[in-house]
Amino acid sequence: MADTDVQVEALHAALENIAERLAEEKTYLTDLDSAIGDADHGANMNRGFQTVLEKTEGMDGEPAEVVKTVGMAIVSEVGGAAGPLYGGSIMTASQELDEGITAETTVAFAEAYLEKLQDRGGAQLGQKTMVDAVTPAVHTYKKSIEEDDLSPLEALAKAVDAAERGVNYTVPLRATKGRASYLGWRSVGHQDPGATSTLFILQELLETATEYLDGDVERDATSPTVPDDGAGETEDA
Ligand code: ADP
Ligand code: MG
Repeated sequence: MADTDVQVEALHAALENIAERLAEEKTYLTDLDSAIGDADHGANMNRGFQTVLEKTEGMDGEPAEVVKTVGMAIVSEVGGAAGPLYGGSIMTASQELDEGITAETTVAFAEAYLEKLQDRGGAQLGQKTMVDAVTPAVHTYKKSIEEDDLSPLEALAKAVDAAERGVNYTVPLRATKGRASYLGWRSVGHQDPGATSTLFILQELLETATEYLDGDVERDATSPTVPDDGAGETEDA
């Protein structure tokens, strides 16, 4: 991606999109959490990202600093399980962005995020938590960049698809971590709230990246322009 200023501008745009989306989905996330938890996930995430906007407002400087502030704001504002898991993982992973936002550093960020999440929460894949959305997203993003040579934008789109499948995968699972595990088999048939909020955040990151990276693709395009000799479409010179 382009220079630091543009990266930070894109980060602010992403945070606004995420905060707006979580405000819109507040009731939905709370409904999911009322089925298998204590009906606070929508309020938690909404309050958390409103605080994120307040704490990051007007911040310039380094992308890693902005992202670290995001994590700290979530930790300070959101209690329960999700606050420390989201916030702590973002804070730790933010170090990977010290060199700015690139394909390589975002892969490192994603891996560090997942590692910290599992370290802190102790959940493995298949326990009906946000790990079930984050794991396929991170693995898909990394593989898309490192093995399939996709652009960060294409890789992120694949990661969002993978997260969506992860969210659907939580539905038939019996929760064995977090508050939902208290319900035992009665948690079966319900979608995990934390996996769902993870998907919403990734979707908004993709939305923002599409806006910002499209511009880059145009600016950095090295492939020759193929002359359009089709009928009717050619613009007058
Ligand atoms: P609380 O459960 O404290 O009320 P929230 O309702 O905000 O917190 O968040 C619930 C979500 O947190 C769950 O849907 C699940 O995705 C996630 N979660 C809970 N415990 C864990 C854990 N140990 N590891 C990973 N995610 C977890
Ligand atoms: Mg809850």
